Amino acid sequence: MARLLLLSTPVGAIGSGLGGGVELTLTNIARSLIALNHSVTVVAPEGSALEDIPLIQIPGHLQITAQSQGRDALVTLPPNSVLGKMWDYARHNQSDYDVIINFAYDWLPFYLTPFFDCAIAHLVSMGSLTDAMDHIIEQVASSFPTTIAVHSLAQAETFRFKDACFNLKNGFDLTQYQFNPTPKHQLAWVGRIAPEKGLEDAVAAIEKARIPLKIWGVIQDESYWQSIQANYPDAAIEYCGFLPTQDLQKALGESQALLMTPRWVEAFGNVAIEALACGVPVIAYRRGGPAEIVKDGKTGWLVEPDSIEGLVSAIAKLDHIDRAMCRQDAELEYSLSAMGNRLEIWLDRIVQSRNSSFGCA
Ligand code: UDP
Repeated sequence: MARLLLLSTPVGAIGSGLGGGVELTLTNIARSLIALNHSVTVVAPEGSALEDIPLIQIPGHLQITAQSQGRDALVTLPPNSVLGKMWDYARHNQSDYDVIINFAYDWLPFYLTPFFDCAIAHLVSMGSLTDAMDHIIEQVASSFPTTIAVHSLAQAETFRFKDACFNLKNGFDLTQYQFNPTPKHQLAWVGRIAPEKGLEDAVAAIEKARIPLKIWGVIQDESYWQSIQANYPDAAIEYCGFLPTQDLQKALGESQALLMTPRWVEAFGNVAIEALACGVPVIAYRRGGPAEIVKDGKTGWLVEPDSIEGLVSAIAKLDHIDRAMCRQDAELEYSLSAMGNRLEIWLDRIVQSRNSSFGCA
């Protein structure tokens, strides 16, 4: 049994949606580790909610999301930084833990790594975005080999240190997702409403395919959302808010397919597995994590990136996909126990390489 301290993203409280997929990823990893009899404590911004998992809430100002900045963005911290204070907590309490797991895509935790006595594992949640982040992660990958994990090979490929990355993929509590064999006449789009997510392509496609689109997720960029509504005034779209997993999966299950139209290299795409778990095929651009998740012609369709026509023809072929096969596929590779096996391998490697480099037992 290992004692593990999980440090959440500093861009939003767990449950707010502002932290994107990291919120659910952290929750699932915590559950998976507890099921393996490890002891888990989570440190997260104040206002976070986590059922049945020990949680330390830290007040302070949130970080700005890295994906909203340019490649040459400087490293910034607000006054009274929640990130700084979360890592103060980790520093003061590190002797109580065997491994600290960092979920923040932020410079500070990587920079601090050599100053800690406790081993730090980093789960990198996005592909290469800024030079400052690439540089600091690469330094850690070189000084502490084995400590960097990613969610997909495509994400690793965006980094120069791709060969040092452990591909953890992701895992979900599939008992929370119900298989729905009888969808309604609707498609789904789920995610943060922000430019890198490319919602406008899904809207353009459903307008051509003449099928309604339901949209779930936090509106992170209000002006982007306004511009989509202004550009497609007649599209049959309905914004249905940000729902907790239990309600989201029920509504998502009623859809004929999930559209994933990211502009960026999506590191993974949690929503793809959530859809498959409900028996919902995924139509995604052949780019980033979704291209590794979707089995073309079996659990959905992969489409030429940025092609609206491609999306439209994939929508027309949805009756070729067996919804039961989608659910089966999620169970095979993306259950909590499948991820638990991968987590054990990753954490064992970190502890062993730490022990051998420090010469302890
Ligand atoms: N999500 C949610 N409720 C909603 C819409 C989205 O809980 O109404 C969650 C979803 O479960 C997923 C996350 O938002 O975990 C989006 O993560 P993803 O990996 O797809 O993209 P990211 O936001 O990390 O880029």
